[in-house]
Amino acid sequence: MIKLHDKYFKKFISEAKIQEAVARMASEIADDLKDEQPIFIGILNGVFMFFADFMKAYPFSCEMSFIKLASYHGTSSTGDIKELIGLSQDIEGRTVVVLEDIIDTGNTLEELHKIFKAKKVKQFKIGTLFFKPEAYLKTYKIDYIGMEISNEFIVGYGLDYDELGRNLPEVYQLHTHNMINLILFGKPGAGKGTQANFLKEKYNLVHISTGDVFRYNIKNGTELGNLAKSFMDKGDLVPDSVTINMLQAEVEKNPDANGFIFDGFPRTTAQSEALDTFLETKNMTISATIALEADDEILIERLLERGKDSGRPDDQDENKIRNRFDEYNEKTAPLINYYKAQNKFYSVNGIGSIEEITTRLSTTIDQL
Ligand code: AMP
Repeated sequence: MIKLHDKYFKKFISEAKIQEAVARMASEIADDLKDEQPIFIGILNGVFMFFADFMKAYPFSCEMSFIKLASYHGTSSTGDIKELIGLSQDIEGRTVVVLEDIIDTGNTLEELHKIFKAKKVKQFKIGTLFFKPEAYLKTYKIDYIGMEISNEFIVGYGLDYDELGRNLPEVYQLHTHNMINLILFGKPGAGKGTQANFLKEKYNLVHISTGDVFRYNIKNGTELGNLAKSFMDKGDLVPDSVTINMLQAEVEKNPDANGFIFDGFPRTTAQSEALDTFLETKNMTISATIALEADDEILIERLLERGKDSGRPDDQDENKIRNRFDEYNEKTAPLINYYKAQNKFYSVNGIGSIEEITTRLSTTIDQL
């Protein structure tokens, strides 16, 4: 993976595959034009690398020239093409082969047809190293094609993303993340952990529960566990600095994840902001924050019930539970507006059977 400007690109076509296509094109064109002395005209800038390799592979006598047109701004074809550098030599009566690095919409090709129609050439042929059939909107015949590729934005081997990437000897494609990164939101006892266990299987996600990580550390007597224990036992939040670092470390442990379910994190505005900033450095983003809604009295009942088996001190005492709700109302509830402002907040009825609630959550996730 490489980064050019703000975007990530992954390897797409190897140097060997490119050279194979170039050699094939050179011999195909040489076969057709062996009795001619063609003029090859390269369309700058993108063609420079292909043109040089092609010429080294072309076995017969030929001339060459370049013209320059511009069609790309950023990653989408804009269609406003202008001739920048014209042809210097007379090509009337000559066999002309225009070489392109890539043809996608065909807008450049149309411009070339207009230019060369007026020149009274003997033969006019078009060759392109890469061709995107799905993007092609014109009907002009393309005489020689090195490789057909899917409709991806590519860089390397002469092609650029805002002028970067032309020097790469192989071709890269834009890396788009189809990751699903969910925040399960809601008060203690809302069922975040239970639902995360179903959703992680269904969507092949990594489940990170900050509460579970803290409890694991307490059980193992780690430094982190000792630090968190006093806060957790009272039902207070653990300080942000500790929690944020821990969360980041958990994400870092899973570089190949398809996505994450964050359960119990973020719980403060500072945590949400830190999460956004951190994810951005990984070219990731939150897909949705889904809240499980339930009344306090139902939650208290559920937590006290859970406390009988879980052994969690914070589940066994109604005062501690109410303190956790206070922490939620004061520090965590403001995040609803934080995610609403990003258009990422969804709310699901958290009362019902486990399966019913999983279905409600899945419906929301499938619509993302
Ligand atoms: P939970 O298992 O999510 O109910 O979390 C249990 C306890 O762990 C909370 O009451 C907090 O003391 C601590 N904790 C879990 N996640 C966080 C967080 N994101 N920020 C601060 N404290 C947390």
